[in-house]
Amino acid sequence: MGRIIAVANQKGGVGKTTTTINLSAYLAELGQKVLTIDIDPQGNTTSGLGLDKNTIENTVYELILGQCDINDCMQNSIMDGLKVIASNVDLSAAEIELIGISEKEYIMKKAVDKVKDDFDYILIDCPPSLNMLTVNAMTTADTVLVPIQCEYYALEGLSQLIRTINLVKNRLNSDLEIEGVVFTMYDARTNLSLQVVENVKANLKQAIYKTIIPRNIRLAEAPSHGLPINLYDAKSAGAESYRLLAEEVIHRGEEDDEWR
Ligand code: ADP
Ligand code: MG
Repeated sequence: MGRIIAVANQKGGVGKTTTTINLSAYLAELGQKVLTIDIDPQGNTTSGLGLDKNTIENTVYELILGQCDINDCMQNSIMDGLKVIASNVDLSAAEIELIGISEKEYIMKKAVDKVKDDFDYILIDCPPSLNMLTVNAMTTADTVLVPIQCEYYALEGLSQLIRTINLVKNRLNSDLEIEGVVFTMYDARTNLSLQVVENVKANLKQAIYKTIIPRNIRLAEAPSHGLPINLYDAKSAGAESYRLLAEEVIHRGEEDDEWR
């Protein structure tokens, strides 16, 4: 049965989208069947995986409003074994359109449950806020993966995020767990990155992935070519780190008990 991972942090620019794109791509490259769901109206995961977000008719917006079946929303991507449910700016209206709809916290879950068994991994890229779309991702997910940027304010907002995850767990999805924290944009040339990692490790009770994603210009360039890093520059340090992260995610899934 597919493992559903929501990639969430209400801070913008911490590497959620970069992590979703490249973790999805490497999981697929390692032979996993992957579905990537973009629920950020910016649609950067959609375009970063080579899809034209403005010409796709059946996006996550139509899915959430019940205007299309999930099987009709899944797009093929440039990689075998990787399907995408796209997003674009239309989705920014979804929150308002959901007002008054019953069980609106579970709309995505009901749709995704239909195809859960068709995939090994389903990754959901969340918007930079704790809104109804993020809540939908968390009711759908088994775990939440939290990218943390190695910068001075890394811990800011983290307790709020963990509170939200616990609230969803207590009230809406008792199975929800924190998958773990992934450090992103690590800069080996500065002491700051190292201090941030040590500070977070000392203050956070959550599981932390061993793989640390370095700051790497190739990771920032790849989306403008509509390519995940494995297809853009597989030899870059950024590519290597996301390949290791994908291996770690698979391994941790297999040894779930040891990990938690
Ligand atoms: P979020 O989805 O959390 O808002 P993004 O993944 O979009 O964050 O990343 C924010 C910006 O930082 C983007 O321009 C992205 O290309 C860049 N970026 C993300 N991760 C890295 C990295 N490891 N090295 C260099 N640039 C990165
Ligand atoms: Mg993003």
